[in-house]
Amino acid sequence: MKRFDGKTVLLTGARGGIGAALLTAFRDEGARVAAADRDLDGVETDLCLPGDLLDPGYADTLPSAVRDALGGLDIVVNNAGVITRGTVTETSDDDWSLSLGVNVEAPFRICRAAIPLMAEAGGGAIVNIASCWGLRPGPKHAVYCMTKAALAALTQCMGMDHAGQGIRVNAVCPNEVNTPMLRSGFARRGFEPDSAVAELGKTVPIGRIAEPEDIVQVVLFLASDAASYLCGSLVEVNGGKPVG
Ligand code: NAD
Repeated sequence: MKRFDGKTVLLTGARGGIGAALLTAFRDEGARVAAADRDLDGVETDLCLPGDLLDPGYADTLPSAVRDALGGLDIVVNNAGVITRGTVTETSDDDWSLSLGVNVEAPFRICRAAIPLMAEAGGGAIVNIASCWGLRPGPKHAVYCMTKAALAALTQCMGMDHAGQGIRVNAVCPNEVNTPMLRSGFARRGFEPDSAVAELGKTVPIGRIAEPEDIVQVVLFLASDAASYLCGSLVEVNGGKPVG
């Protein structure tokens, strides 16, 4: 008997660094996984739902599409995210709309659509991927930090409001994770990603930055029955480096 036998998962950002590791882990543990991302070519899973989370019609209908195709929806992981860099005065209208749209509005829409389906089926679990920077902002990423703080607050609100319906809503707040999001940022700023990751690792008390698998294990715990009393929790996963 595997931990997620018989469970159905909706996972956004399924093609990204953390998302791909989550997809594999949930399936290895028995879940059927519906993958959502802009491009899912070559992704092997139980259901592929490609689309743009900035499209409200797509985000609003993802939960029912999973329920209709796979016969249920037990777990939602709002993992997709974008990072825009800069201070407020360096932030364009496009960056603002993109960040709010992907990091806040899409999880809001998906949760709003998923919660009634989960409640009708007797309950479920939602895990949002926020960030340490949503708890304590870091420099020069004003709008990213704000969106992750918004997602953290939304998680706490939903955790309270829907616990009575048997739906546990929690968030994981990672610090730096070795994924394309982090590595492309280094590359854009002219750093060689492998050495930049190694240098950054020296600033973390545990001696390295997180790998996607470090985050995956916490997400799986929060999605599982082992986390039966966690509702609205913001779980920081930071290798001992709590500052932004
Ligand atoms: P990633 O860039 O590797 O993956 C993000 C995924 O989201 C991509 O597959 C991308 O296609 C998808 N996505 C983005 N915009 C989309 C849109 N409009 N429609 C559909 N899909 C879209 O990033 P990651 O590092 O794996 O990040 C996963 C989550 O973890 C994000 O929410 C991120 O903010 C959070 N996080 C990452 C770090 C880090 O250091 N990597 C730290 C803290 C939090």
